[in-house]
Amino acid sequence: MHRRRLLEVLSSTIMTGFPAGGEAKTSSVVVAGAGIIGASIAFHLAKRGARVTVLEKLRPGSGATGKSFAWINSTFSKQPRSYYELNSLGIAGWRRLQLELGAELQVQWGGSVDWYPSGAEADELRRAVQRHQQWGYATHIVQEAEFHRLLPRISAGPLGVACFSEPEGTVDPMHALGVLLKKAQQFGARLEYPCEVTGFTLANDRVRALETTQGPIAADVVVLATGVDTTRLARLAGVNVPLKESPGVLAHTTPQERMLDRVALAPGAHIKQNPDGRIVTGSGFSGSPVTDTSKEFGVKLLRNASRFLARLKDVPLESVTLGHRVLPQDEFPIIGFCERCPNLYIAAMHSGITLSTLVGQLAATEILDGITVELLKPYRPSRFA
Ligand SMILES: Cc1cc2nc3c(=O)[nH]c(=O)nc-3n(C[C@H](O)[C@H](O)[C@H](O)COP(=O)(O)OP(=O)(O)OC[C@H]3O[C@@H](n4cnc5c(N)ncnc54)[C@H](O)[C@@H]3O)c2cc1C
Repeated sequence: MHRRRLLEVLSSTIMTGFPAGGEAKTSSVVVAGAGIIGASIAFHLAKRGARVTVLEKLRPGSGATGKSFAWINSTFSKQPRSYYELNSLGIAGWRRLQLELGAELQVQWGGSVDWYPSGAEADELRRAVQRHQQWGYATHIVQEAEFHRLLPRISAGPLGVACFSEPEGTVDPMHALGVLLKKAQQFGARLEYPCEVTGFTLANDRVRALETTQGPIAADVVVLATGVDTTRLARLAGVNVPLKESPGVLAHTTPQERMLDRVALAPGAHIKQNPDGRIVTGSGFSGSPVTDTSKEFGVKLLRNASRFLARLKDVPLESVTLGHRVLPQDEFPIIGFCERCPNLYIAAMHSGITLSTLVGQLAATEILDGITVELLKPYRPSRFA
């Protein structure tokens, strides 16, 4: 879809909303997986009047979503330009949803501040800022005075290059998930858990029913939003969804007085504060192989972050989480109907928090209107056929 057209679609939703019980052509959709992607697709489908059932094998948010840093962004790893545009529209999707749902949905806007001491990484950051500025992203290099205004409690250490990326935000992922599921249910969606999808009844290459631990469930369309389990489940329908192993560990503190109004991307430590006051920090965000969830490792993460936010030295650790990123082999989303099994819709992606509201809306369009959204074309499951 042309970018301008897509923005029109997004903004028309802001202004009018979709009527419940609208013109949905597909009568019954089963969404497997109650993470942020399944929840957003279910919400957007139910709002359009589809009969939606969400099946979750454990409990909502028990996959990557509940263990996510949940920074909504389109910064520098988002390349090439088409993928950057997709993530920028993802940010717009959260703005749209917040206008639609009002105060019930808490998104902390405020942007992010990223910095490095002088050296190769600082030079790379400067180049990345210039590239993203050329693509239209509201990011800019900041000097010390602006840095301290943006992050007054942070001691940056020697500042080589720093930048402020204004359009970004963050959510508490479990809060956002809860809101989407509640709204989906208000529009008539059914949420079943624990209920594990164990297989499919296929006829003429189409899924007729899902086999589940609660018995068979018939469906006109099946959405697989089962996170890292998607590879195994899709294979049962003859579809290849290759994912890479990518664990990530985060330390969470007990609720604290407000220290941060934006995401701090310090060298070697990402730090944010949820609306409830909990500070969340992790390191090694580009596919670190760390899987240690011991208290000692959590304390080490807090100590690492306290190099920049000194008050973290005295703050109690509440929990350490290990999440497995839903990271496709080529690192781009895998989304859309499958050629092999035309009523099976796959939705597996990293940066799923950023992308969830957008892909929820676009997936509902593809499923209910029989439209192929051009914006999603590079990301079809068929590229791995
Ligand atoms: C440490 C970490 C940091 C991250 N940071 C960011 C970030 O800053 N910004 C960002 O945008 N993204 C981030 N991500 C990525 C983002 O969290 C994920 O892309 C997103 O949560 C994926 O959501 P999902 O719904 O696809 O998968 P999941 O949240 O994994 O949900 C899948 C659900 O399906 C269920 N399920 C599995 N198998 C079955 C079955 N057979 N039957 C029924 N249910 C089943 C699971 O129990 C699970 O609840 C991060 C991820 C991690 C791990």
